[in-house]
Amino acid sequence: MSADTVLSLVRDDLRAFAGYSSARSSALVGDVWLNANESAWSNPADAQGIARRYPEPQPQALRTQLAALYGCSADQLLIGRGSDEAIDLLVRALCQPGRDAVLVTPPVFGMYAVCARLQNAPLLEVPLRDSGDALVADIDAIIAAALSGNAKLVFLCTPSNPAGSSIALNDIERVAQALEGRALVVVDEAYGEYADQASAATLLSRYNNVAVLRTLSKAHALAAARIGTLIAAPTLIQVLRRCQAPYPVPAPCTALALAALDSDALAVTDARVAQVKAERDRLYQALQQAPGVLRAYPSHGNYLLVRFDDAQAAFDALLAAGVVVRDQRAAPQLHDALRITIGSPEQNDRVLQVLTARRAAA
Ligand code: PMP
Repeated sequence: MSADTVLSLVRDDLRAFAGYSSARSSALVGDVWLNANESAWSNPADAQGIARRYPEPQPQALRTQLAALYGCSADQLLIGRGSDEAIDLLVRALCQPGRDAVLVTPPVFGMYAVCARLQNAPLLEVPLRDSGDALVADIDAIIAAALSGNAKLVFLCTPSNPAGSSIALNDIERVAQALEGRALVVVDEAYGEYADQASAATLLSRYNNVAVLRTLSKAHALAAARIGTLIAAPTLIQVLRRCQAPYPVPAPCTALALAALDSDALAVTDARVAQVKAERDRLYQALQQAPGVLRAYPSHGNYLLVRFDDAQAAFDALLAAGVVVRDQRAAPQLHDALRITIGSPEQNDRVLQVLTARRAAA
């Protein structure tokens, strides 16, 4: 697929859109910068003077680090305010309101549908299928629905939130191949660090219509810094940059992210990911035996989806012990389910104590 075909997926009216030209994006050279109406002095609260000037729209040092982290080149990468911003940008830039559809696989992360609704893009829903031991993406149904329903964007969440299942790379490839020139396949790898398979970014050299979402919010423990990354064909990245807000990456967040990507911090992150995976397996085994648990789903994320005979009672018992979990009962197919994030070993013990005590009380 050539660069032109990926550009053909962008809304016709935005393909040549120039966007906002910020003071930081011009190639001027000088040592007295009076072109952006900034203050000449730092705020007393900003001891290091990192916040006085508008930041680089896409901080070069962070791009280099993220490209190394995610195994792509810097021109394939767009940094935004969490991966949430990239989802919104993709829907706005690719979907002509009222015409181009967004395909999602419920039950799944809700922002894809929210962004579609805001853009007035039709929503195509292809429910996850119960394979017997997991809720999995139905690849043939996704391809068929995308083709017949004029999907411009297909969101594949792997590992899926909240179901926990992964989509094999060859299945993602099958969707990308079937939809070449028709739709962009967005692979949301927000929880990719907790899974055991290679990133779909490895497909980008062969499929221009693949895009990958990554974030520092989960495994890297920087949810409040709001650093998300979209990895896609450079031509698409350039278009999206022009649609993005002028200064989407605050300088204090860049500094924090750079510090989090040095080798010492990365070693700690790796160790924590390993610990979460071990705890996830321990909790999964224990919950299978817990009273009132109908089913715990195997998970490749940092959470478990669990069905209860009385989900309200389980939710209330956990809450009474100070443990807040996510009630999933309003989601399709999940009328009896809670999602429990994997915590520290002590926090997970508390979850197990509460759910085991319910047996004693029953
Ligand atoms: N994708 C998935 C699947 C998520 O669960 C979340 C957050 N819960 C996000 C994207 C957004 O993450 P962020 O904006 O913090 O990068």
